[in-house]
Amino acid sequence: MRKRIVALCGFVMVFLVPVAAQPPAAQAVPTVTAIRAGRLLDPEGGRVLTNQVLLVEGNKFREIGSNVAIPPNAQVIDLSTMTVLPGLVDAHNHLALTYKPEPESNIYYFTYLMDSTALRAIQAASNGIQMLAAGFTIVRDMGNNGNYADTALRQAIEQGWIPGPTIINSGIIIGGMGGQFFPTPEMAKEHNIVYPEYLDADTPDEIVKAVRQNVLFGARVIKICVDCKPYGYTADEIRLFIREAAKVGMKVEGHVQTVNGAKNAIEAGIWSIAHSGGLNDEMHKLMAQKRIWRAGTDTPEGLAGHPVSPQAYQRTVASLKNAYDNKVPLTFSTDADYFVAGKTRGELCLEFLKTWKDAKIPNADILRALTLGGFMVSETEKTRGPIKAGYFADLIAVPGNPLDDVDALKNVQFVMKDGQVFKKDGIMTPAAFFHAGPVNGWRIR
Ligand SMILES: [Zn+2]
Repeated sequence: MRKRIVALCGFVMVFLVPVAAQPPAAQAVPTVTAIRAGRLLDPEGGRVLTNQVLLVEGNKFREIGSNVAIPPNAQVIDLSTMTVLPGLVDAHNHLALTYKPEPESNIYYFTYLMDSTALRAIQAASNGIQMLAAGFTIVRDMGNNGNYADTALRQAIEQGWIPGPTIINSGIIIGGMGGQFFPTPEMAKEHNIVYPEYLDADTPDEIVKAVRQNVLFGARVIKICVDCKPYGYTADEIRLFIREAAKVGMKVEGHVQTVNGAKNAIEAGIWSIAHSGGLNDEMHKLMAQKRIWRAGTDTPEGLAGHPVSPQAYQRTVASLKNAYDNKVPLTFSTDADYFVAGKTRGELCLEFLKTWKDAKIPNADILRALTLGGFMVSETEKTRGPIKAGYFADLIAVPGNPLDDVDALKNVQFVMKDGQVFKKDGIMTPAAFFHAGPVNGWRIR
């Protein structure tokens, strides 16, 4: 069997990769677009430059400045009344999971039973579009996505079937037996009754195998449950995950909910930590020293249908403020995996700005977490995210100035992704993103 797989891979490598390496037909004759930006926000400097021209050629920025000549054949987009800024990043979302009051009483254990991976992949496509419309051009999709619906979404967007953010996906979350759930013996022992979406990895061999399974099935980052069970991972076990993932250039994010779990993850040198439950002042100081990313998933109070107790919210705000004061590397992250009536998935995520404002974090630093922090945790910072010549042309525009009022981000009027206009004058115009074939080249996962 293994030989047959190797033979098949050989076939794929020899015959399909050269085809995929052809430049996409759509970019054979690059069009030039000139964007007039009334204000251009530079998150790194925390400042706004006025009256800038951005030239976009094909899918990349060509030139940016106040004295850039607009070529006569260029298509001109006038954003002279707006603030243009890089696209936003949600460093922790679950695009193929939307648990609902009906039929699963908001218990996502049951979503797995009620909704097929196929249905959830379509949900992911819709959620991805909703995220992009709200200004999120990169989303880290961190598991609980059925049987690799997250990989399917990433491929569909990369190949040019549908619009969506750049997806950094984790595949199936790896944990000690049971993962985050408590399956019955009938479900858990032989996995011969439906088994919720975690990969069991309890021994070194199983850890290596689980990482390789996710790599094989298209993950771009590895997500582990550090301490979902009393038999959570030791620092040595986490190091094994990190070593195995590093072989293919991937990083490891840990779901952490206890101080002891945080201690082990930090000691092992994990890339990022999700959730704030295990992060106290001491852990934040260690994370700052070791430059470990914090994806705190800082849920605000007041989301309709998703009550957070005042005590829990105060803990969330205090933890985020403590992390900021300790100079922990921060990302904006939501853990969005549910449905709030009247809001798109992207609008829901922007509600999380409340927590950052209540933690008294300056707008310039909220914007840094939403952009630079997100690009770095996603490892796109040298190719995608910053508005710089030679980078992929992703940008958004809002009326007002988010440095003065960060809630201006809730009114994204314009979105460009890969040099194509996705939203203009507040209305999605995504026709350029839909294709009946893989126009950006077919790729193995
Ligand atoms: Zn999550």
